[in-house]
Amino acid sequence: MKKVINLSKSKIMQGLQCAKSLYLSVYSPDLAAPISDSQQALFDQGHEVGLEAQKLYPGGKLVKADYWNTKEALDQTESFIKEGIKTIFEATKAFEGVSARADILHRKDKNVWEIIEVKSSTSVKDEHLYDAAIQLWVFRKAGLKIDKISIMHINNKCTAPIKGNLFTKVDVTKDATALLKKVPMIVYELKAHLEFSLPPIIDIGPHCMAPYECPFIDHCWKHIPVPSAFDIPRIGNKVWELYKDNKIEIKQLNEKNFNIKQARVLSVLKTGKRFIDKEEISKQLKNWQWPIYFLDFESFNPAIPIYKGTHPYQQIPFQFSCHVLEKLNSKLKHFEYLHTENSDPRERVARALAEGFGEKGSIVAYNKKFENGVLMNLAAVFPKYRKKLTSIASRLVDPWPILEASVYDKDFLGSYSLKSVAPALLGKHMSYEGMAIDEGGGASLAYLNLIKGQPTKSEREKTIKALLEYCRQDTLATVELVKWLFAQNEYPRRNSGRYL
Ligand code: SF4
Repeated sequence: MKKVINLSKSKIMQGLQCAKSLYLSVYSPDLAAPISDSQQALFDQGHEVGLEAQKLYPGGKLVKADYWNTKEALDQTESFIKEGIKTIFEATKAFEGVSARADILHRKDKNVWEIIEVKSSTSVKDEHLYDAAIQLWVFRKAGLKIDKISIMHINNKCTAPIKGNLFTKVDVTKDATALLKKVPMIVYELKAHLEFSLPPIIDIGPHCMAPYECPFIDHCWKHIPVPSAFDIPRIGNKVWELYKDNKIEIKQLNEKNFNIKQARVLSVLKTGKRFIDKEEISKQLKNWQWPIYFLDFESFNPAIPIYKGTHPYQQIPFQFSCHVLEKLNSKLKHFEYLHTENSDPRERVARALAEGFGEKGSIVAYNKKFENGVLMNLAAVFPKYRKKLTSIASRLVDPWPILEASVYDKDFLGSYSLKSVAPALLGKHMSYEGMAIDEGGGASLAYLNLIKGQPTKSEREKTIKALLEYCRQDTLATVELVKWLFAQNEYPRRNSGRYL
């Protein structure tokens, strides 16, 4: 039996998703996946949103104790309460070994308080209600009279410059109270799990991904072979039925039980042979026009809108790369733009696009929905470039659906993302491994550090180089992919859907 340890509200929430995840985070944290750049960006954003919410309560006092120093946080909170402070940020209370920090604890009356939890989401989620219930339980049991608990989330209708309407406050007292009676049992059970010398026996399931991706997936999913039923695209919950029946190995699956595309994937995984439908590729490429441009944007989407007229989470393009091929075997040309100042990048991006693109030719964007959205947003804001930008958007073509309809390789592993497809079809040199920036989230983070941080001259140069290389790699991979498609197109009639 292990000694019972104290738990924070976040740990209880982690345990609610999976008691094993809580256990491992307490006793084997080294098994957790490292925090990715994208996750770090989300944490940083959450912190910024919290600070913005505090501005709505001027005069509020912050409990400055570090998050792990519960004793000091409790003492500071207590002394603020005794001093008669009206609003306390990060107020901390504990009951029976569970501590909870309230984003905002606001005194409504002499001894009556409201708790306000700040969330970066744009609506109240189910998990927020449990979060509120635990908060309410701890604070009330610790002796504070809490008569209201609210969730303050981002109001996605507001636009910059923000005039006090960044948040929507929702009273969740009723919902949290309804869950309140479950909290003591939840706490009791989670603590009981932690007293054992081995983690609870909990199998993998949909709970590994929701509401949050568990950091112990690499550890718990080791027994899943690669490939397996989990690598069949759009398989949905059916995969969990197969898992329950112990039938996730590729050789155990029958094509008859899947739709055409899934059955095709299954055959590829069974034989290891790539599927190519050259006729379909030929049909799709017929309407593409030369010269062909290859476009990719990098963007960031701040929860708190910064630039005039933008709303929360709007994608703000700060960079693009474009390769150009006059003809299939022509020399590759390239133009690009990266905004390196701390100012609204959109007009400069719009201008560089308008100046760089010619009037004719198809424009390839991998998964073009995103590029189309960015172009149309720019067109709406900058009338000077509207005609050109809408023309660019109207000429977008997308290799993704062509590949989805006509190609499958065993190394796609269920994904048609550029980062899966390019190395599988073109070879390892098209992988992003070893690059200083190797994913979109990392590019956003690097850009924000560039404009908002205080990088030294050499750090700045390094970041700019890494951003340019990353975006260029995206368009270069698309160029090679399209050349590969055209190469299949050469003798289309010899193949109308074969495994090669
Ligand atoms: S990966 Fe799944 S089973 Fe393992 S700890 Fe996480 S949620 Fe629990």
